[in-house]
Amino acid sequence: MKLAAKLVVFIIAAIILDSAVAGYLSVRREVELFDVDMRSDAHLLGDAVGRMVADVWNTNGPDRALELIDEVNSREYAVGMRWVWFDAPPGDPFAPRAPHEQLTALPAQDAVSVVLSDPPGPDRLFTYVVVHTGKHRSEEKRVGGLELSESLAPARDYSRSTIIRTVVATAILVGLSISVVALLGLTWVGQPLRQLTDKAQRVGRGDLSGPLTLRGNDELTQLAQNMNTMCAELARAQEKVRQETEARIAALEQSRHADRLKTVGRLASGVAHELGTPLNVVSGRAALIARGDLSPDEVTDSARIIRGESERMATLIRQLLDFARRRSPKKQPTDLARLAEQTVSLLKPLAQKQNATLELHAATPPVVAPADAGQVQQVLSNILMNALQAMTPGGKVNIDIDRATAARPANGAPTPCARIAVQDEGHGITPEHLPHVFEPFFTTKDVGEGTGLGLSISYGIIQEHGGWIDVSSAPSRGSRFSIYLPLEAAPCPDESSSSTTTRP
Ligand code: ADP
Repeated sequence: MKLAAKLVVFIIAAIILDSAVAGYLSVRREVELFDVDMRSDAHLLGDAVGRMVADVWNTNGPDRALELIDEVNSREYAVGMRWVWFDAPPGDPFAPRAPHEQLTALPAQDAVSVVLSDPPGPDRLFTYVVVHTGKHRSEEKRVGGLELSESLAPARDYSRSTIIRTVVATAILVGLSISVVALLGLTWVGQPLRQLTDKAQRVGRGDLSGPLTLRGNDELTQLAQNMNTMCAELARAQEKVRQETEARIAALEQSRHADRLKTVGRLASGVAHELGTPLNVVSGRAALIARGDLSPDEVTDSARIIRGESERMATLIRQLLDFARRRSPKKQPTDLARLAEQTVSLLKPLAQKQNATLELHAATPPVVAPADAGQVQQVLSNILMNALQAMTPGGKVNIDIDRATAARPANGAPTPCARIAVQDEGHGITPEHLPHVFEPFFTTKDVGEGTGLGLSISYGIIQEHGGWIDVSSAPSRGSRFSIYLPLEAAPCPDESSSSTTTRP
């Protein structure tokens, strides 16, 4: 039940209870008053008639007095009146209707009223008034008086009509109270609470617009104002977070781009070397054709060689452009062995310069993972270049591609994933440096040689793919970097069941 409705019901229940108690007390008081009135009227009437009867009794004798009583009786319809001797035994025509036990207060008390049932009629009120007739000799020792009897039907009618009147008045009062309380309750409490609830729900959904305006100056209005202030603060904080996030993303993008350009720069010399040989072949063959000394078969042969070399150069340039182009991650099923092959071929000139060899081993069937080929290639290039730089001439770098069920460092839940492991024979990483290698700008290289961004950017890229990079190393025992990428397809065979082959 809603708060406003609860308040209204509670107040109405209190009003009904209060009205019922007040009505009951008022009915009781009125009935009591009516009863007291009836008794006192009977006493007064009995007293007045009693005095007259006593006078007549003393002056004209008892017979005349009894006649007077009959006369009065014939004129008064509501109250019956007759002469009684209080000591007369039951059955005596002058015996009182009330039993003697109820009249013991007489004659010490001048008048007594008792209620007696009178079936089948309503109860009657009997009032006994002592009449002092002491002057007549024969009745000197007897105590007599008047018995006044009155039906209690009017009293019953009066109490019934009082009850009905009180019930109707209470019902009208309750009805009016319900209307007023319901109207005020809904206007002052229900409506503002509904508006506050709506506002809170909108805030919960992230909609901070539309400040709440409540009239008045009560606690709910205050709450609405506080809510508006809170929304304004939240909106400001959200805007700040958005701007900071945008700035961070832009900075990250810039670092990635810078890192990519740095890598491209490093690769450029190797690429120039790679392009030099085919270009020489193309230009030599073209010169031969231009001289016109060649037979038709030799021309065809030279043209075929020129075409082959051109395609090789075009592939190389396309790979370089793919690598350098800045674009948002776009994951699609990628054959990791093929990707590693392309990277190795790009880095071959650099490896040759270092007098090092890159050896690729890939599991069968081919390991295919959802990945952005360009970005993963960037990561692998970074790790391979670090490996080549860490080695003395003549070293070997092994690249293994397989599947593994491995536990993510943070939550430890083992998941089937694809793994690219790069193992070098370089100088390794000291235990103090090892925890920091993924930190941005951490580098042990000379100024101008290292920026300390390569591994942090690589980690970010792999994280965006839902994976992680693991490193283990010991000084002068080489380093092993393992890239884990989730396999979205059916779970892969366990590490133990994967076979490896060597790709030249
Ligand atoms: P940079 O290569 O510009 O220094 P990176 O983030 O790629 O930045 O690498 C950070 C540091 O990690 C390197 O300076 C180096 O000390 C260490 N490191 C990375 N890979 C290797 C590796 N294969 N062998 C030894 N040290 C490495």
